[in-house]
Amino acid sequence: MMYRIVFALLLVSSFGYGQKQNKKLLAALQKHTYYLASDELQGRRAGDAGEKLASQYIADQFKNNGLLPKGSVEYFQPFEINDGRKVDEKTNLKINGKSLKLKEEFEVLSNSTSGSFSGDASPSIQEANQVWFVDLSESLEENKENPHFDVANLISEKIKNAKSKNATAVIFFNSNGNNILSFNGKDRTEQTPIPAIFLTKQGREKHLSDLSTTYSVESTISLSPKIRNARNVVGYIDNGAPLTIVIGAHLDHLGYGEDGNSMIKNGEPSIHNGADDNASGTSSLVELSAILKKSKQKKYNYLLIAFSAEELGLNGSKYFVENPTISLNTVNYMINMDMVGRLNDSTNTITLGGYGTSPSWKSMIDGVKEKGFNIKYDSSGTGPSDHTSFYRKDIPVLFFFTGLHTDYHKPSDDADKINYNGMSKVVRFIQQMIELDKPAQKIAFAKTRESQTGTSARFTVSMGIMPDYSFSGYGVRVDGVSENRPAKKVGIIAGDIVKQLGEHKTSSVEAYMQALSKFKKGDKTTVVVSRANQELSFEIIF
Ligand SMILES: [Zn+2]
Repeated sequence: MMYRIVFALLLVSSFGYGQKQNKKLLAALQKHTYYLASDELQGRRAGDAGEKLASQYIADQFKNNGLLPKGSVEYFQPFEINDGRKVDEKTNLKINGKSLKLKEEFEVLSNSTSGSFSGDASPSIQEANQVWFVDLSESLEENKENPHFDVANLISEKIKNAKSKNATAVIFFNSNGNNILSFNGKDRTEQTPIPAIFLTKQGREKHLSDLSTTYSVESTISLSPKIRNARNVVGYIDNGAPLTIVIGAHLDHLGYGEDGNSMIKNGEPSIHNGADDNASGTSSLVELSAILKKSKQKKYNYLLIAFSAEELGLNGSKYFVENPTISLNTVNYMINMDMVGRLNDSTNTITLGGYGTSPSWKSMIDGVKEKGFNIKYDSSGTGPSDHTSFYRKDIPVLFFFTGLHTDYHKPSDDADKINYNGMSKVVRFIQQMIELDKPAQKIAFAKTRESQTGTSARFTVSMGIMPDYSFSGYGVRVDGVSENRPAKKVGIIAGDIVKQLGEHKTSSVEAYMQALSKFKKGDKTTVVVSRANQELSFEIIF
């Protein structure tokens, strides 16, 4: 019998798992990560073909591992992403019977309203006509040295003026040459009351060469919302328990960087493979699904979710918590893995976010004797990943993250740079923490301070609101407010739409960020919000 014991001891590697088991886990993590981060998946951009392949792969893995489908369509939970506006094909412009080429010869203003118009128009006598040609060159010249000059404001004033004099459309041009406007589908400024377009330099030279004559104009402008269809993948392990543990990781990445979230600006578009961000977390999720399905710990149910559109603003996880496929009241806690593939072998340190969201985390983490790594704690329940959506629903969260690196959001975040052994340590840690947990009742939830990382770091002040990045209307919709911060103190609440900060209109999150950067600590200003179609204003001090 002795030799058997010796043999058994030899098989035990670190963490008490058999070498064979660990080898299998490492091989599986590698296989998933190499596939998900391969060029075939083209960076898994939410709504694109690569994201479909990735989500199908995860659904197949869940099925193989014996999980039940718990999406709205089998394993999938499809949802729509509002991607701004697009110019429809039927948009056209004819001057003197000749069609102009969209983009080359004319551009639709980003915030133009849709509509058809026709009539005679002359660049030199506007007010007699219904269609106005408006030359911007003089105003541009006058304001050349003016640091406060804003083309968008000028255009908006010109359109209002034309409308008040019964114009049905405005066609802008710049007789001094340069093109100053191009269509931006993400523009969220208020729509113009009448259609508005801009003739490019090429279009003006070809079709409007004589500014003293009259032209016949005919046009249809048609803009529509641009929708992308993304999908979460949801698998369930039903142990007939009263409480469920949610484990999540986002499956999407940046594609070719089309959404402007790449660290490489103005480069040739290239595939962002996102091996660490977040093929690493997704692969770990798949392996945890197999481990938990086989686990003897049957005192919980497990819901495993691969979220899409995290990179666009946590869209998938927000959609899930608003449209949950199990009752959120039965969720004990949520574990999120985002970028768990770069454990540094020399520091061997992992960051655990959300540590302050439950007083129980300490004993649960301490319960894991062989951790495999050092832990750095971040108390905040909010951060730049999907656990934030669950924290906002008063659910305790724990966020696993092996740290930032120079390949972050670059095409060079590749599968050969991943520390697979480090990933397996994360998987084993989560497994042990769950298996050692003695389920009796829900762990308590606690509110935390707001994270100091993320975009807020660029500003010296903030209001302490969490903007809803998926909101497509005018203004900044408040998704949540932080304790003890200016917004909360004056009574701004989730659902409010911030429209103005001091003298700055906050038409979009970008405009809001720009406005914020104009203030410093101690400044006082007025915030205008709309709440249930009422305008309210608040005096805040940063
Ligand atoms: Zn990312």
